[in-house]
Amino acid sequence: MQKLLLALLLLTAPALAQQARPAKLPKRPVAAKPAAVAYFCNSGNIVKYHASPSCRGLERCSDTIDPIALSTAQARMKPCAVCH
Ligand SMILES: [Zn+2]
Repeated sequence: MQKLLLALLLLTAPALAQQARPAKLPKRPVAAKPAAVAYFCNSGNIVKYHASPSCRGLERCSDTIDPIALSTAQARMKPCAVCH
């Protein structure tokens, strides 16, 4: 079984190598970014939203840090001065 697998690998390896290295790499279109997300300290007294859950402004958060859609965050909170 293993020998067969090895033989198969040896047979397909050159073909794979050729496929992996095309003469010229076509320029890929930039992948669409995932929906913009902000983070906030879910302490019940939400004032600011953050660009990253590891922002210094979130360090003191003793509650959960939750993601929120950026558009929602912008409508309800102010941007954190540290990460914005
Ligand atoms: Zn921040």
